[in-house]
Amino acid sequence: MFAFPPHPIPSVAIAGSAERFPVHRIYCVGRNYAAHAQEMGAAVERETPTFFMKPADAVWSGDDPVPYPPATSNLQHEIELVVALQSGGRDIAASAALDCVFGYAVGLDLTRRDLQAVAKANGNPWDTAKGFDASAPIGAIAAAASIGHPTSGELRLEVNGSIRQQADTADMLLRVPRIIAELSKLFELQAGDLIYTGTPAGVGPLLRGDRFVASFPALPVLAGSIA
Ligand code: MN
Repeated sequence: MFAFPPHPIPSVAIAGSAERFPVHRIYCVGRNYAAHAQEMGAAVERETPTFFMKPADAVWSGDDPVPYPPATSNLQHEIELVVALQSGGRDIAASAALDCVFGYAVGLDLTRRDLQAVAKANGNPWDTAKGFDASAPIGAIAAAASIGHPTSGELRLEVNGSIRQQADTADMLLRVPRIIAELSKLFELQAGDLIYTGTPAGVGPLLRGDRFVASFPALPVLAGSIA
């Protein structure tokens, strides 16, 4: 018995299925491509990944435009390959990690870059820069049972018809099995977890009215606009 009705479980469409993927948590990897770490003025770090989180209900999917968030004048796009887990655990071996993967999707790790810069300068957490409402647009999830486990492929983001980001996921510093293994040392991973695996170079601003098309081979396109 709840004191008031609980919020609905956030969920994401599954390609070719009437079922939806129920979201438990959203983990994100920072600085997972050398060229992006460099464009942000950060060190290229292969051994100690940066992790942060977004609230589960930050996922944004469907046909409605993405709302432009308050309290920023520098909303930025980060196209990322997203991993969707069907099982989890603690201390998962990299060699067993792909067994936990339900499928993959294309996502945008939307970022209030101005607030992130202030947080970095002051040594403060990134929550207000990364975890705001609707900060995790995501396309439909393609099941690994259908498409396998892609180890390479071109992530491509177009904004208003111009290419903004274009890179191969083979350039990730930490590949998907290592990401899952490292995260599971810190958290008990669960079915329903999403992992945004980091963005390549080319991050930049999104303005009200912009249209974006984010793609990766074999995955449903994530297309939409900023309200
Ligand atoms: Mn990111």
